[in-house]
Amino acid sequence: MTPMSDPRPLKATDSALVLFSGGQDSSVCLAWALERYARVETVGFDYGQRHAIEMQARQVVLGAMVDGFPAWAGRLGPDHVLDLKGFGAIGGSALTTDRAIEMTERGLPSTFVPGRNLVFLTYAAALADRRGLNALIGGMCETDFSGYPDCRRGTLDALQTALNLGMDRDFRIETPLMYLTKAQTWALSKRLGGQDLVDLIMSESHTCYLGERGKLHAWGHGCGTCPACDLRAKGWAEWHAAGEPGAPS
Ligand code: ZN
Repeated sequence: MTPMSDPRPLKATDSALVLFSGGQDSSVCLAWALERYARVETVGFDYGQRHAIEMQARQVVLGAMVDGFPAWAGRLGPDHVLDLKGFGAIGGSALTTDRAIEMTERGLPSTFVPGRNLVFLTYAAALADRRGLNALIGGMCETDFSGYPDCRRGTLDALQTALNLGMDRDFRIETPLMYLTKAQTWALSKRLGGQDLVDLIMSESHTCYLGERGKLHAWGHGCGTCPACDLRAKGWAEWHAAGEPGAPS
């Protein structure tokens, strides 16, 4: 399976832009990219999230990757933060207002900002064009499908075609977590960076929708009850119940 295959030999011309939120999934994606690309840059989006804690987690995780993984440090280039508050205002979802997190009448969680990944990837592609980066890497995932249609691989294939036609480029949208369970994502982090990376992602990445950092659970910080914490905790428990296997190669 492609996402689990061993890293290809590094090529100097191979470069990537990782959509990096500071959460568990995008932190694992960053490690995945640093294993296989000679040059990696990161991009984050300020779309008026309710919790500045996400933006702080990005910097902590980036710093820890540099400090803890010397082989990766030399490959990691600049971090970019793009202001998309205007877009966040259109979404008006539970992540950007005080609306409760619940299932909406359309069967989507109220955390869904319509078309968010389409917008993020279009901005990322424009940035990658300017920076001369070839691959766009994101932590979208169908396996723990939460009702986000713009996380589906079919959506991203269509967007990749549109971006390449519209920008006359040859971008690849790579989604290494697309078909992994959350337990397999923990396993992948162990294979990529050993226990040090597992510890880093457990303690420093931020996933909780409510922005809770006060309590450190076995699986990391969070409220423990929101859908994001629930997924993360269940994945951690499943991985440990299976004896913490590494990801199959
Ligand atoms: Zn939570």
